[in-house]
Amino acid sequence: MADSSISQAPESWTGIAPAAETAADTLRQRARTRRSSYVAEGLSFLIDAGILLLYAVAGTTPYWTPALYLLAGLAVTFTLIALSETNFNDRFRDHYLTVPHCVSTMTVALAAAYFAPEVGIYLVCVNFIILGFGSLRMTARQAGLVWTYLTAGLAILFLMTDKPIAMPMASWTERVLALVCFVTVLGRCAFTGLYGSSLREALYKRRNELAEANARIEEMSQIDELTGTLNRRSILRSLDEEIARARRNGRAACVALIDLDLFKRINDTFGHLTGDEALRTFALNVSANIRTTDRFGRYGGEEFLLLLPETDRAMALTMLDRLRLTIGEVDWSAIADGLSVSMSAGLCEVRDDDVAETLLSRADAALYRAKNAGRNRVMAA
Ligand code: GH3
Ligand code: MG
Ligand code: MG
Repeated sequence: MADSSISQAPESWTGIAPAAETAADTLRQRARTRRSSYVAEGLSFLIDAGILLLYAVAGTTPYWTPALYLLAGLAVTFTLIALSETNFNDRFRDHYLTVPHCVSTMTVALAAAYFAPEVGIYLVCVNFIILGFGSLRMTARQAGLVWTYLTAGLAILFLMTDKPIAMPMASWTERVLALVCFVTVLGRCAFTGLYGSSLREALYKRRNELAEANARIEEMSQIDELTGTLNRRSILRSLDEEIARARRNGRAACVALIDLDLFKRINDTFGHLTGDEALRTFALNVSANIRTTDRFGRYGGEEFLLLLPETDRAMALTMLDRLRLTIGEVDWSAIADGLSVSMSAGLCEVRDDDVAETLLSRADAALYRAKNAGRNRVMAA
């Protein structure tokens, strides 16, 4: 009952139908998954028929028992394959048609037990495998339905007929065959269990992959593509969080709006690509020279926002001025001959009654003063 595409966890487990129900790829993949199930089922019928044949050789049952059992089993299997290959199954939510599948194979086993009661216990045991394997793909309601069908079938067989359902043990050969019956049924039950755990494992792996992919998407959605710093949405969210934290713990915090000086001229002189490279290099240098608790992000164009938690105005001024000097010392000529970049910053301290807008407008006013005072400097509000 091996299923070659166990990574395709059955929808009945997750309750999620594939997104592209009608996509040819999905249909092909589903048909392939079903095919391996039917092959496994055909093999299972062959094992049963083989054991029944040995019983026939031992004289326990007539030869028509294995012959008819094999015929019925293969007829059911081929009918299911024909429905599957013509994509009839894909009209249903449970495209494995698990319930009709289980009911039809159980009917074969129960009918065989009725017509060949001398080996009936073995044929009844075959239902363990069918119910066990089917349950892997069934909902509780479907499993209840199939179990009820099986109970009714067994009740009719045991109570409403006088068939002597047996497991013959008269001769040594029959004792050996009884052992073979149980060993092969138990083996197939264990295989079903292993198959179930491999499905669960595949599902678990898939969930982990999905969680990782989601984390990557989440991370990417926070990053500015050009500079690798936090993007505008993310830095503004951090600003709100920082204001709330400063208010909560009563500690000083500062915010700085940083703008690159005469950047239009840099673009005009060296080209837009050099401008981009300068932006990247600037962001890299700032990121390398701030604390891990500070937050740095691109506010727009060549303007950046720097959040400095647990930092008062004086400390922030010192820190930003050091940063300004560091930027001035970068070897900009490595990007383009004659290139030099400087920054201006407007700084302000978070107040109790501040919201993002009031803080930003104070920082912007300070930045405006820094620009007016000749650029390449830090001004505090
Ligand atoms: P100031 O010192 O007054 O800030 O002068 P400025 O030239 O920097 O003035 P402004 O802020 O008005 O101009 C910013 C320029 O930055 C304009 C725009 O072309 C450029 N810019 C914005 N985003 C990017 C970008 O992603 N890449 C490049 N290469 N340039 C950008
Ligand atoms: Mg500028
Ligand atoms: Mg600007």
